[in-house]
Amino acid sequence: MDDVLVIGTVALDTIETPFGRIEKALGGSASYASFAASFFSKPSVISVVGKDFPQEYMELLRKRGIDLEGIQTDEKTFFWEGFYEYDMNEAKTRKTELNSLARFRTIVPEKYKSIKYIFLANFDPEQQLEALNQIENPEFVVMDTMNFWINNKKKQLMEVIRKVDVLLLNDGEARQLFNTASLVKAANDALRLGPDAVIIKKGEHGALLFTKDKHFSAPGYPLESIKDPTGCGDCFGGGFIGYLAKTKDLSEGNFRKAIINGSILASYNAEDFSLNRLKTLTQKDIEERYKEFQDIREF
Ligand code: AMP
Repeated sequence: MDDVLVIGTVALDTIETPFGRIEKALGGSASYASFAASFFSKPSVISVVGKDFPQEYMELLRKRGIDLEGIQTDEKTFFWEGFYEYDMNEAKTRKTELNSLARFRTIVPEKYKSIKYIFLANFDPEQQLEALNQIENPEFVVMDTMNFWINNKKKQLMEVIRKVDVLLLNDGEARQLFNTASLVKAANDALRLGPDAVIIKKGEHGALLFTKDKHFSAPGYPLESIKDPTGCGDCFGGGFIGYLAKTKDLSEGNFRKAIINGSILASYNAEDFSLNRLKTLTQKDIEERYKEFQDIREF
């Protein structure tokens, strides 16, 4: 098992879905991703929170064995407010308050600089780049992003894409970023920029993997009860890289297994608000759903 370094937001989220509402709950791309990765590997996090960030949220991450030394403390925590309608594949943003993130400058602690598996979770692309530049010899870099950064920092985002091994995007973002209706064209455009693989997440409908000569389609898990899909993309990314760090096999065949593991973490995450479902998740739960995934796609 190898370590994973996660760079992303640690946030307070206010979320409304047709099944309820929570206020200032633990959220953020790095929280979800590191928690998901912790089922397979030992994650460390680089981020920033404010003085308003509840200690109990820190404790929850720490108790999972996540190294939090790279989380700086400033004035006010990143805040995101979003809602979903019955189509839970699309989060609608009501408010994004960058707060401390607006003046955050990445400092990679010395002990993280030799970590080989890096997840640039959804974050300011300038800081994703800054982090990458400080890491000595990154062996495998995965990145994620979202429409907020495509709208505000597209040039910097394109620069990060050129430096990573795997690009993760959801379908809407892929269409927006590459200005096309075709996901295949978007993936091929992305591959031409440099990554060896592009994974397009399609919410409850699964995920597509594109490499230069192969294509894999992972099914979505048929969940009967979805309460809150927030963080599913981050859990997918965390589960994906965590599994690869555990198995230390970066072949295309193992990417497929990593995608299924990412999908498992994401599907469990949607069953409850914030990180509530992941808190009680066990290895046995993961193994059971892995078998179900195998059954679903056999014919
Ligand atoms: P996901 O549902 O996986 O796309 O990610 C949801 C998480 O992303 C939430 O917990 C938010 O706090 C966080 N988030 C929302 N907007 C941004 C943003 N612009 N940059 C980084 N993280 C964000």
